[in-house]
Amino acid sequence: MKLIITIDTEEDNWGDFSPTGYTLDNINRIPALQDLFDEFNVKPTYLLTYPVATDKKSISIFKKILKQDKCEIGTHCHPWNTPPFEEETNEKNSMLCNLSVDLDFRKLRTLHNVIRKNFGITPVSFRAGRWGYNKNVARNIYKLGYKIDTSIIAYTDWTASYGPDFSDILPKPFRFSIKDITSELSNGQMIEVPATVDYLYRNLGLSNILFKLFARNPINKMRLIGIFNRLNLLNKVWLSPENSDSKDMVKLAKSMKRKNYNLINMFFHSSTLKAGATPFVKTSDDEKQFLQRIREFLIFARDAGIESIKLCEAGEVMKG
Ligand SMILES: [Zn+2]
Repeated sequence: MKLIITIDTEEDNWGDFSPTGYTLDNINRIPALQDLFDEFNVKPTYLLTYPVATDKKSISIFKKILKQDKCEIGTHCHPWNTPPFEEETNEKNSMLCNLSVDLDFRKLRTLHNVIRKNFGITPVSFRAGRWGYNKNVARNIYKLGYKIDTSIIAYTDWTASYGPDFSDILPKPFRFSIKDITSELSNGQMIEVPATVDYLYRNLGLSNILFKLFARNPINKMRLIGIFNRLNLLNKVWLSPENSDSKDMVKLAKSMKRKNYNLINMFFHSSTLKAGATPFVKTSDDEKQFLQRIREFLIFARDAGIESIKLCEAGEVMKG
């Protein structure tokens, strides 16, 4: 099993959907985060928004890391601050999946081109801002040459915030065709690497017996997850230091290894490096704890022989 770390690398202004007036203070913390990754030989994938990809100081920070081949640069589109600006600014329109396929394309192309120009690379990995992904977004990124999407977060429904429903998606990477973005197709042109969220079973013995009895097909498996949920036998864990402590993340990784997953995808926002920028880190003490949770997980991964790869390398692991 390999570890991928995907970071939504974006402005400080969580929940603010204005096209201007953002700040990028958190990007100053990237070199310290990268030092931590270097210590463990981890190559993270920074998925950049338009404000980051066009900021002189940010460009020099990431170019330096890129030059040393210590990271991957991908694309993370916040439509509200990616030109052209034609839509009304509101929560619904903060998701690409709610805009027209044509406006989406022009925003995505703008961001794609500034990354190419400012970093001298062609990004192949993508995540939609606020997980606002659908088949139109997939078609557009495919047209721009992207190979890998990581806009799906397993077992999660965003319909309450105008977004897509991924509650039936397992945390398993799969090849797909842009005609059907949630079904596995062995010769599909694109690869989906969902952000890792999975269930841990509180009563492993009982859960295993029930699974063996009923879970012979995926539909039954989804029904069982529903039943287990109601019986409070499940603990949903996000492989993210924003929502989970290192103990839960380690438990999750161990459980996924037992289930023969070939990849796990840890995810968080660069803005969580700065206290107050996201809801996950409020004080300078929290900032330290956030980095400590990442460190503790990386110690576990190193000791368990779980190597890190870049998101663009996911296809190679899936072949084997
Ligand atoms: Zn974002």
